[in-house]
Amino acid sequence: MRINERVVQLNDKETNTKGRYVLYWMQMFKRASHNHALIWAIRKANELKLPLVVYEGLKYYYPWASDRLHTFILEGVEEKRKEFEKLGIRYIFYLQRDKGSPKNTVARLAKDAALIVTDDFPCFIIPGHNRRISERADIPVHAVDSNGIVPMSKFDKEEYAAYTIRPKIKKLLPNYLKPFVEESVEIDSLKLEVDCPETTVTDKTIASLVAECDIDHSVKASNVYHGGTASGRKRLKKFVEEILPDYDKARSKPDRDGSSRLSSYLHFGFLSPLEVASKIQDADAPQESKDAYLEELIVRRELSYNMTRHNPKYDSLEALPAWVHKTMREHASDKRQFVYTPEQLEAGDTHDELWNACQREMVETGEMHNYVRMLWGKNVIGWSRSYEEAFETLVHLNNKYCLDGRNPNSYAGILWCFGKHDRPWMERDVFGTIRYMTSGSTGKKFDSKKYIAWTNDL
Ligand SMILES: Cc1cc2nc3c(=O)[nH]c(=O)nc-3n(C[C@H](O)[C@H](O)[C@H](O)COP(=O)(O)OP(=O)(O)OC[C@H]3O[C@@H](n4cnc5c(N)ncnc54)[C@H](O)[C@@H]3O)c2cc1C
Repeated sequence: MRINERVVQLNDKETNTKGRYVLYWMQMFKRASHNHALIWAIRKANELKLPLVVYEGLKYYYPWASDRLHTFILEGVEEKRKEFEKLGIRYIFYLQRDKGSPKNTVARLAKDAALIVTDDFPCFIIPGHNRRISERADIPVHAVDSNGIVPMSKFDKEEYAAYTIRPKIKKLLPNYLKPFVEESVEIDSLKLEVDCPETTVTDKTIASLVAECDIDHSVKASNVYHGGTASGRKRLKKFVEEILPDYDKARSKPDRDGSSRLSSYLHFGFLSPLEVASKIQDADAPQESKDAYLEELIVRRELSYNMTRHNPKYDSLEALPAWVHKTMREHASDKRQFVYTPEQLEAGDTHDELWNACQREMVETGEMHNYVRMLWGKNVIGWSRSYEEAFETLVHLNNKYCLDGRNPNSYAGILWCFGKHDRPWMERDVFGTIRYMTSGSTGKKFDSKKYIAWTNDL
């Protein structure tokens, strides 16, 4: 049942009149400000004259759980504890290390709660979490959309491409691109007793906590990107002051620090797109650069969220339009000039130095430069035994190594390499009418030797 443009009630249970608190289960919007889910939880707590408890858990068994992802998430915990303390809100963080650790913590917390508020994120494991808790808990579960600037509910079907969603966003934007108004709780909950295990996290304990978890320890924490809202804001400040003025040109130069590198902060919700967009709007930079950036941050990003919200097949080639299926059928058995196994690709062991460099950047740092991501994806299509194998390899590598993986942009970005949100181009072998790219021509548009050398030193 839809309550408003950002909030849906996922079940039809009654509020527990004996509940001692309102529970906000924070899953994806890992921040204490600019968060519509938090605001909704505060409002519900105040209406019910109850304190608010914020719960954030990190389990060991989600797909691709690794030192890299765990570290990035844990780096944002201590600062949230401090922020919530200032707000008079009890914040509980719990790290479930392995199968011997206590489980079902949300269900346990729900027993004493009047109502649950949680994050409405349209892909990966979150829709399943929300479905299960709304069935299991005996209280209402409200899922709140704080993903983008325009609420996802403003688009009631899947958009075909950027050109179809852009005019709609442009029309709606003045209603949403305005200062976020924070609210506060009326009842302090800092001393509230709750039935839930809790993990204390400090900068000094992160490495040992991660080492104790039953996760993939082969994907190391990033030395380049550090989690948390403070780190995200530091990067945002640098981007706005030093890089944005030239973004229009610099973003297509992987050999330069020329894009925002904020996608991991946006993915984990350490930063809200509204906060980022507001800083861009107010920046002292040429309008072309601001427009170019807002096109990516708003139009392209919200198109991806729209796709995962409305297309249940977003994690497969089935999400592609009919013209792509037709051309893939016609070219499925074309001879591939080079064929690499998923293992060779993962090892960055191909004949193509630029491609290997992209792969190396991702494996070593946890991100790949925006400009070469499409080239990376297109080549895997050309070098895999089938389109299906190419898709699976891309999703696996992207989600395993990228901090910003497992996001609507991950699925839309990979599908874009196969023609999603694009149009047919000139026909050729293997790709059919799917747009084609080569390292040779792409590598001439920037100093690819410098980029390759940089990744060799990582
Ligand atoms: C094969 C492939 C895989 C991708 N995987 C991911 C992924 O896992 N996670 C992810 O966030 N993005 C992904 N993208 C989209 C895009 O490449 C990244 O968002 C971008 O590289 C992030 O770098 P940045 O923050 O410096 O971008 P900037 O150029 O600074 O752009 C600002 C913000 O706009 C958004 N954005 C930029 N480009 C796109 C785009 N093409 N589509 C949607 N939103 C965009 C991002 O949130 C980004 O942080 C993928 C693209 C491709 C082609």
